[in-house]
Amino acid sequence: MKKKITIVVPAYNESENILPLLDEINAVVINENKYDWIVQFVDDCSTDNTWEVISSLEKYDGISIKAIRFSSNFGKEPALVAGLTSSVDSDAIIFMDADLQHPPKLIPQFLRKWEAGYKNISGIRSSADDYTWFKRVSSNLFYSVMNFFGDIELPRGLTDFKLIDKNIAKEFLKFKEKTVMFRGLIEWLGFKKCYIEFVAPARLNGEAAYSFRKLSTLALNSFTSFSLLPLKIAGTLGALILIGCSLLVAYMLITEAIGTQVFTPLAYFVVFNTFLTGTVLSSIGFIAVYIGRIHVQVVDRPLYVISDEVEK
Ligand code: UDP
Ligand code: MG
Repeated sequence: MKKKITIVVPAYNESENILPLLDEINAVVINENKYDWIVQFVDDCSTDNTWEVISSLEKYDGISIKAIRFSSNFGKEPALVAGLTSSVDSDAIIFMDADLQHPPKLIPQFLRKWEAGYKNISGIRSSADDYTWFKRVSSNLFYSVMNFFGDIELPRGLTDFKLIDKNIAKEFLKFKEKTVMFRGLIEWLGFKKCYIEFVAPARLNGEAAYSFRKLSTLALNSFTSFSLLPLKIAGTLGALILIGCSLLVAYMLITEAIGTQVFTPLAYFVVFNTFLTGTVLSSIGFIAVYIGRIHVQVVDRPLYVISDEVEK
């Protein structure tokens, strides 16, 4: 029996890109006919006629078409998860954007890596990309902060253009978390990883739906699912204030004792107040530790994931 490969495509208002995308995919998979090919569309409740275009397709040359539609615009991350969930019976799953920014002509490179035993293959946007400077700076900042404070290492330019083996898909489904950063979790899952660098062309038709607001939410979700960064910052600040205040009080008391300086009660009051602020902030740091434990328990991410096993 042929092995099955599903290409999951999240689509939000992509009506004009669906057919060009299928054309390009078809041109590639025609030479990869030792596999059965399925394209699984996830329409994220588009407001144009994306759904009409997708649902009127039964087959596209050799490719079987499957499609689901969200009842509301839940976002790309849930769409990727939905695509994965409905494709776990495939031997491998490829994820790609609908706007041709993840070039289908790279599929054979992903396949060769998979055939060579890699299980978790990701596209990396090359630094030669024509991002606007704002996107470049914010993306760099995101990866720097994430890698410094987070629990996982994310390669710079990591995208959702991926091929994962069915084992990874199965492990992914065990996650119970509700705020998903898809690429972070897939990266966290590990297995035999490799990366393929590519330059993303401009979007074919339409406009990027990823608004600043959506991107900031994604970044915030990423920070909070992989680190307690905001609380830790408060805690660290509190500790610094406490140390500073203690030194200051010591200085005030000593200089006053030896008679070199005299401080008004107001000065002591101000220092005392700052000291209190430091106490409150550093308590937040301690609370962060407890919340961290609760977070780990609630999210219930597996402690470990097994990739291979031998019994003789
Ligand atoms: N997308 C989606 N839901 C959304 C926004 C985007 O499913 O709410 C899809 C979109 O159709 C595309 C992919 O996610 O296939 C990437 O979106 P976009 O091109 O807007 O983002 P960018 O290229 O800027 O990352
Ligand atoms: Mg795009």
